[in-house]
Amino acid sequence: MEELNPFKIAQEQLDEAASMMGLDPQAHKILREPMQIVTVNILVKMDSGKTEVFTGFRVIYNNARGPGKGGIRFHPQETLDTVKALSAWMTWKCALADIPMGGAKGGVICDPKKLSEGELERLSRGYIRAVGRFIGPGIDVPAPDVYTTPQIMAWMMDEYDKIVGKHEPAVITGKPLEIGGSQGRFNSTAMGAMYVLREAAKKIGLDLKKARVAIQGFGNAGMFAFDLVTKMFNSKVIAVSDSNGGIYSEDGIDLDGLKTAKINAGRVDAYKKGSRITNEQLLNLDVDILIPAALENQINGNNAGDIKAKIVLELANGPVTPEADKILLKKGVLDLPDFLTNSGGVIVSYFEWVQNNYGYYWPENEVYSKLDKTITQSFTDIMRVQSEYASKGKDITPRNAAYIVAVERVAKAMKSRGWY
Ligand code: NAD
Repeated sequence: MEELNPFKIAQEQLDEAASMMGLDPQAHKILREPMQIVTVNILVKMDSGKTEVFTGFRVIYNNARGPGKGGIRFHPQETLDTVKALSAWMTWKCALADIPMGGAKGGVICDPKKLSEGELERLSRGYIRAVGRFIGPGIDVPAPDVYTTPQIMAWMMDEYDKIVGKHEPAVITGKPLEIGGSQGRFNSTAMGAMYVLREAAKKIGLDLKKARVAIQGFGNAGMFAFDLVTKMFNSKVIAVSDSNGGIYSEDGIDLDGLKTAKINAGRVDAYKKGSRITNEQLLNLDVDILIPAALENQINGNNAGDIKAKIVLELANGPVTPEADKILLKKGVLDLPDFLTNSGGVIVSYFEWVQNNYGYYWPENEVYSKLDKTITQSFTDIMRVQSEYASKGKDITPRNAAYIVAVERVAKAMKSRGWY
């Protein structure tokens, strides 16, 4: 049976990179586990008048390079192991981007779709009251993730301000603009992925104007990816899915029509100008670019052999399992790892934190050009390490190469601090 526990996968990926790069065993041991795990039970007065108990987590995986950084998920299937895995990936993501932050992540087991706005606000504020002692601009800086929004970040920052009795906008990122959010943050994850895609297409000689694209997931990340890939490169999106299923149209899907279908019916397959497909069929389509932008383990040992895309642009966290990684490498698919591809969100989150600390705000074009420079450098670093290994006769995946770059940076910081 293939291992699908995300934390086991994160450890497996680290182990593989550690053995390839000959990582010091003490550093390896430190890096296999999170440094701090906080579990809280949050009491929320529901609209019915009854009290409900929600379990939440906040994990700091490693803070050798700076304060923790990572989103908060609200999800019915949230588990501590998922949060641990995501916090590990945040550590590597920040290190690969070479920003001075460590890795962290949070989550609450809840189904936000079943909560009223008032219940959601009380839960968000309750979460901050519970973890407030463990976060802060120089300690750990949360942000949005699956099913959490700028509005939720605003409530959370407001609650934190009340606890500490002063304005502290740098405690949380992904905020609305009017309370210290950054220009360009709203679509920064997808924008970063586009800069990566531009570089990847150059590398394999793919003409993006003629490229056909399939996107799994039509949330924050997937929707902006759709918008940008069509606007920036004129590529054609021919398939999109959400948790209810997908839609396919060889002529290309119209974004406004799809948004209307999603808003009115709550699902993308309500879009009329195309045929319905399953999520599995979407992954196997004969496209140039496949963008997984939903959840973990979507491309695994069972279906990786059927992937036909030339480029897999991992916008979601952990969408490709280690077994699938090896299959894609053998098939010659350029699989661009999550912690490179979706690092635009955390890079601009870092810019937001810098601007909050500084009290001075940058225009959108400045944010995008700094993002482009940072993420293009990460892509170049990965390709350099991959070709260095190839020249020594070792075939490694872009993910292995990204791990090697990131782990080396974190290990160096731990060494300087005297942790080993
Ligand atoms: P979101 O909640 O806005 O959207 C998630 C989307 O995935 C929804 O359309 C949902 O219907 C769909 N989905 C859920 N289960 C599915 C399934 N089994 N098959 C197909 N679709 C499914 O979340 P998001 O913010 O877009 O995040 C998506 C992924 O991107 C996550 O892995 C997240 O960690 C990652 N990510 C997001 C950001 C960001 O800034 N939003 C940054 C970095 C990484």
